[in-house]
Amino acid sequence: MKIVLDRPRCEGHGLCEQAAPQLMHLDADGELVLHHEEIDEADAALANAAVRVCPVTALRIA
Ligand code: SF4
Repeated sequence: MKIVLDRPRCEGHGLCEQAAPQLMHLDADGELVLHHEEIDEADAALANAAVRVCPVTALRIA
């Protein structure tokens, strides 16, 4: 399982970072950085929370 970012769609508001700061953060330029693409079961709930909170559906689980 991995988390996938549609970067052109991302508007950089950081709601996903608030939902799952262990998995992602916005860098100094406002670009979202995924800490790792592969998501294990322990991080699945956080990853799903980040996906749900994104207002432009730029994140998905694959
Ligand atoms: S919530 Fe969505 S639009 Fe906002 S930074 Fe995260 S991925 Fe990008």
